[in-house]
Amino acid sequence: ERSASRERSSRLPARPGIAGMEPYGAPQLDVPHLLNVNENPYPPSAEVVETIARDVAAAAGGLNRYPNREFLALRSDLADYLATESGVRVAPEQVWAANGSNEVMLHLLQAFGGPGRAALSFAPTYSMYPEYARDTLTEWIAGRRETDFTVDPDVATAAVLEHQPSVILLTSPNNPTGTTLPSSTVRAVCEAALAVDVDGAPAVVVVDEAYGEFRRDGVPSAMELLSTYPNLAVSRTMSKAFALAGARVGYLAASRDLVDVLRVVRLPYHLSAVTQAVARAALKHSATLLAQVDALRAERDATVEWLRSRQLAGVPLEVADTDANFVLFGSFDDRHAVWQGLLDRGVLIRETGPDGWLRVSIGTPQDMVAFKDALVEVAGL
Ligand code: PMP
Repeated sequence: ERSASRERSSRLPARPGIAGMEPYGAPQLDVPHLLNVNENPYPPSAEVVETIARDVAAAAGGLNRYPNREFLALRSDLADYLATESGVRVAPEQVWAANGSNEVMLHLLQAFGGPGRAALSFAPTYSMYPEYARDTLTEWIAGRRETDFTVDPDVATAAVLEHQPSVILLTSPNNPTGTTLPSSTVRAVCEAALAVDVDGAPAVVVVDEAYGEFRRDGVPSAMELLSTYPNLAVSRTMSKAFALAGARVGYLAASRDLVDVLRVVRLPYHLSAVTQAVARAALKHSATLLAQVDALRAERDATVEWLRSRQLAGVPLEVADTDANFVLFGSFDDRHAVWQGLLDRGVLIRETGPDGWLRVSIGTPQDMVAFKDALVEVAGL
């Protein structure tokens, strides 16, 4: 009977592109050192938890009603935070938010991609982008990064002009490499985007700054270019630096016109009253929540230095420059064996990036000691 029902379910009309696909996601395992999805290892403090619990309780009293569809109070708080963090002030109407920056990106592709249109990015990069494209029937084009994982502005400009995408995704710092883009490269891509003709309009450039707060001193944010380019969106998240991955809050800043297009494709009430309350409560504590970012940056730089001092059969390990809360390193003949060996020692990292490379998220000092000890043992560094 079971095989009869399997037979029946295998005949569901999943559309081409979806049929037979596995859902995206890294393993969620119960091990002591979780260093595989770039989470912040520090849970919210008791003080933050208390504010969140109080504000959620207040919101709970109104849950018979749909939440505020425009959530301008949250957008205003996010605008204030962005002004403090980047020095660039935008109006609340220039901010958009959704359930994680994953959903923000989906809104962008739903609004600006679609059949007959293409999205362009530069690989290796975040592995969800092709899925947003697939789910919005947008053609996916992977441009290339250089061997040091930077984006050459001339190569990028040529790719934009050749493929005429309606959406260009730049990731800075990039996942999984940690590479940031200089302003000059973002500018070059924005200029090329203005020369694209998508039904008479220029292309939209999205700079995904999910890891923006971890950038090293002196590295700019694309926020600075917003007033110059009405076709630019800068995306951020509360999942990483804010240590709030479980709350699912991502957001972007862009021109009012761009945000108004996103308002058309969102589902009504997509951001629950509980989510809005959690995000606003957390933003009241942004200073406390972000206090760990400096510690994580220092731990990251120390991890890079340590990895660079190691040799594999007499050859120094390769370690990508990183402005994020993770490090990509390699290269191993059998990276899966190294990954498995670390997991056997309670350290979960990620098999991603070019062949032979591995990515480790920055955890607590204890996590990093466990990681280093395990790696020395497993890889014989
Ligand atoms: N962009 C990049 C580059 C990411 O690495 C991630 C998370 N891994 C996201 C966006 C999505 O994060 P979230 O949906 O939690 O905001």
